[in-house]
Amino acid sequence: MSHVHIIGAGLAGLSSAIRLTQDGHRVILHEAGPAAGGRCRSYFDKALGRRIDNGNHLLLSGNHAAMGYLETIGARDLLAGPRVAIFPFMDVNSGECWTVAPGAGRVPWWVLRRNTRVPGTTLLEYTQLLSLHAASANATVAQALDRCSALYRRLLEPLAVAALNTPPDAALARLFGAVVRETLMKGGRACMPLYPKVGLSETFIDPAMAWLGARGARLHTGRRVTALSLAEGRVVAFDTTEGPIQVATGEAVVLAVSAPVAQDLLPRQMVPDAFEAIVNVHFLIDAQPAGDVGVAGFLGLIGGTAEWIFIKPGIVSITISAANRLVDRTADDLAAAIWPEVRMALGLQGPMPKRRVVKERRATIAATAAQEARRPPARTPIVNLVLAGDWTATGLPGTIEGAVRSGHTAAEALRPVLSDMPR
Ligand SMILES: Cc1cc2nc3c(=O)[nH]c(=O)nc-3n(C[C@H](O)[C@H](O)[C@H](O)COP(=O)(O)OP(=O)(O)OC[C@H]3O[C@@H](n4cnc5c(N)ncnc54)[C@H](O)[C@@H]3O)c2cc1C
Repeated sequence: MSHVHIIGAGLAGLSSAIRLTQDGHRVILHEAGPAAGGRCRSYFDKALGRRIDNGNHLLLSGNHAAMGYLETIGARDLLAGPRVAIFPFMDVNSGECWTVAPGAGRVPWWVLRRNTRVPGTTLLEYTQLLSLHAASANATVAQALDRCSALYRRLLEPLAVAALNTPPDAALARLFGAVVRETLMKGGRACMPLYPKVGLSETFIDPAMAWLGARGARLHTGRRVTALSLAEGRVVAFDTTEGPIQVATGEAVVLAVSAPVAQDLLPRQMVPDAFEAIVNVHFLIDAQPAGDVGVAGFLGLIGGTAEWIFIKPGIVSITISAANRLVDRTADDLAAAIWPEVRMALGLQGPMPKRRVVKERRATIAATAAQEARRPPARTPIVNLVLAGDWTATGLPGTIEGAVRSGHTAAEALRPVLSDMPR
C-alpha cells in the first residue's frame, strides 16, 4: 500500500485524503494548526463563552462535489436549511423586504412567472444571465451584467459578491457564470441554501476525520511543514517543526496549504498573490424572526454595510464579503456600524449585546482576471507532488465546492504516479 503525505488538513486536503483512501492508499495528514479545518472551522471563543464558526458558510444544493463529500462521510444530515429554496432580502434604506423563491424544480420556471420572479424585475432582465457565458474572457461581473436592472441590484450583485468575494467591478464574469450555471440555471432544486446545523467543524471536519481514522489514516496536528527537499525531480523529504520526514520511493505528496504557504515552499511555482477579506460579526443574542427569515434562517441585506445575517440559537452572525475596504477599521467601529442595521432588520430591542468581530484578511483569492491567470493546475513538474486548494485552477471561485473539487483533482492527478510505483 502506497503512503501519501498530505500537507494541510483543510477541506482540500481532507477531500483528497478521502479520495486517495477510497483508491486504496494509506494517507498521513500533516497540519500546522491545532485541529483540521483550515478556513472552515469552529472554535471556542473565550469572550463570548461559546463555540463559533470563523465565518458563516453557505452551500447551495447544486454544489455537487461538496454534497458528495458530505454523503461519503455520513454528514449530509448535519446541514440545515429551509425545505424549499428561499432567499429573503431587505433594503436597509427603504425597509422594503422581498423573497426570491426559485421553487423546487429542476428547471428555472420561476423566472417565467411574475409572482415568483424577483419583485420589480421583467423577464427580459433574466436574459443577462446568458451574457455571463458569452462574456469575453476578462470581462467583469459589472461589465457583463446590467447594473441598472432591478435583478442586478436585488439578486445578482449580492450573490456575486458572496460567491466571488470580490467587488463586481473587478470580479471575473466567467467565474460567476460557472456558479450560476450549476445553481440558478438548474432551478430551485440546485439552489437550496444549506448551512451547518451546529458548526462548521461538526459538519465538515469532525465526520471526515472520523471516516479517515476508521480507515487507517493518521492526522498530525501542530506539525508545520517548513521546507521540501527535492532530488531528481521528486520530493524525497520534508522538514517539519517536529523534525524531518522522508518520502520513500513509491510515496507521494499533496500540498494542500494556502497559496502564500505554497509559494514559500515552492518559490518557483506561480500562485495567486491577491486576496479579499471577509468580516464576520457575531452578536450574542437570541433572535426568533417570523416569516421567511425565520424559515430560511438568514436574511440578505442590501444598501448598508452588513450583507448577510445568519440567525442561530443564541447568536446572530453577520457576514460582509469583499471586505478589504473594511479590515483596517476597528472592531468597535465595525460593530457600531452594523448593529443598527441588524436591530432594524430583525426588529430587535436594547443596547448592543456582547459581540466578536472576526476579520479573515486572506479569506479567499481575489476572483479577478489577473489572479485567474496565476492559478496553477494540480500537476506540477515534480513527479510525486500535486497541488490542492481552493486557489488552484478549479474553474470556480474560492469556495467549499472549489476546495473539495481540487482535492479530487489532486488525487486523480496522482493515480498514474502511484500506480507506477511499487506498493
Ligand atoms: C470567513 C469565510 C467565509 C467563507 N464563506 C464561504 C461560504 O459561505 N461558502 C463557501 O463555499 N466558501 C466560503 N469560504 C471559503 C472556504 O472556507 C474555503 O474555500 C475553503 O475552506 C478552503 O479550503 P482549503 O483546504 O483550500 O484551504 P485552507 O482551509 O486554508 O486549508 C489549508 C490548511 O493548510 C494548513 N497549513 C498551512 N500551512 C501549513 C504548513 N506549512 N504545514 C502544514 N499545514 C499547513 C492550514 O492550517 C489549513 O488547515 C469562506 C471562507 C472564509 C475565510
